[in-house]
Amino acid sequence: MLLRWVILLILVWLAVEILMRRLRRLLDSTASPRAVPRGSQEAVGPRELVRCARCGVHFPRPPGRSDDEAFCSEECRRAFHR
Ligand SMILES: [Zn+2]
Repeated sequence: MLLRWVILLILVWLAVEILMRRLRRLLDSTASPRAVPRGSQEAVGPRELVRCARCGVHFPRPPGRSDDEAFCSEECRRAFHR
């Protein structure tokens, strides 16, 4: 009876250990690469940031659009011209 509990405990411990290792690996792979580009992307972004003419939200400039008439969404565009 006691042996069964010991085996069960070891199995549970092993499962927790494996889960923790996976979780740690997952956190390492998702947290560290994300933290680096976040700061550098704002400084050296692939696209120029423009300000929405209606709500003021900054977003990457859509290709082929003029500066003074930039909108973050079609909703803002419609609301601005209403
Ligand atoms: Zn907007």
